[in-house]
Parts: sequence; C-alpha cells; structure tokens
Amino acid sequence: MAEKTLDTLFHDTLKDIYYAERAILKALPKMKRGAQSPELKEAFDTHRSQTETHVERLQQIFEMLGKRAQGKTCEAIEGILAEGEETLAEYKGTPALDAGLIAAAQAVEHYEIARYGTLKRWATMLGMDEAAELLDATLKEESETDETLTGLADSAVNEEAMAQG
Ligand code: FE
Ligand code: FE
Repeated sequence: MAEKTLDTLFHDTLKDIYYAERAILKALPKMKRGAQSPELKEAFDTHRSQTETHVERLQQIFEMLGKRAQGKTCEAIEGILAEGEETLAEYKGTPALDAGLIAAAQAVEHYEIARYGTLKRWATMLGMDEAAELLDATLKEESETDETLTGLADSAVNEEAMAQG
C-alpha cells in the first residue's frame, strides 16, 4: 500500500468536502421552498449562490494539485442532510418548521466550518498559500452564514415556534 502522507489526507479531505458541497447545492433549493419566513428563504438563496462559488474554488484547488475534481461519498453530510429532509417532512405546515430548518442548516454549516478550518491549516502546512487563501474565503462565508442563521433564529423564527406551540 502506498504511503499515506499529509498530501494524501489533504487530497482525500478535498474530495470529501467537494462531495458535500455538491450535495448541499442540491439541498438548498428544497430548504428554500420549505421555509416559511421570507428572510429565511432569502438566506438559503444567497447561500446557494455562495455554494456555487465554493464548488468552483475547490475545482481550482484540484487543478493546483494537478488532479481531477472528484468527490468521495461523505457519509457525514448525507446524514446531516437526511435529518434535514426528515424535519422538512415531519414539521411541514407547523409553526416550528423554520426553527427546525435553521437548526438543520446550522448543522451543515458547522460541518463545513470544521472541514474548511482543517483544510486551510493543512494547505498552509503544505506550502499551498494560494489554496489556503481560497479555503479561507469559503470558511469566512460559511461562518457568516452561520451567524446570519443565528440572527434569524434569535429574531422571529423561534418566537413564532413558541407562541403558536
Ligand atoms: Fe460551502
Ligand atoms: Fe455552507
């Protein structure tokens, strides 16, 4: 078996997040359709277009590595998105739906934040400064999205879930 180094780990983890980003790209329109609050719909829409950029940035990094852009099934994101779908189905038409969708979306963002934080650190260690910058740009957008979602949860959405519960 070939020796596994940090380069290998970096490439494998890049495939993991590449798979995850493309799965998220498909899930966001469903979450937008499910959301009741116009602000939440808008947040999902904004993040969908950011996610397109995240996919492109990853493709650029694969290119820097001289590798084909390729995903590798990420069981973690599959599980997180499946739970989101479950919330969507089980809470449809209830005042708690948006609160549930925000929770699902934040689980997604936190997964991405974990991955991008790691990948950025490894890119720096491997002397791939340009890749580290791209990863940092995405990391910032994931963190901002997380904060936006927290803001929405703090404002109307959770209160609505409580008031009508
Ligand atoms: Fe992303
Ligand atoms: Fe994201």
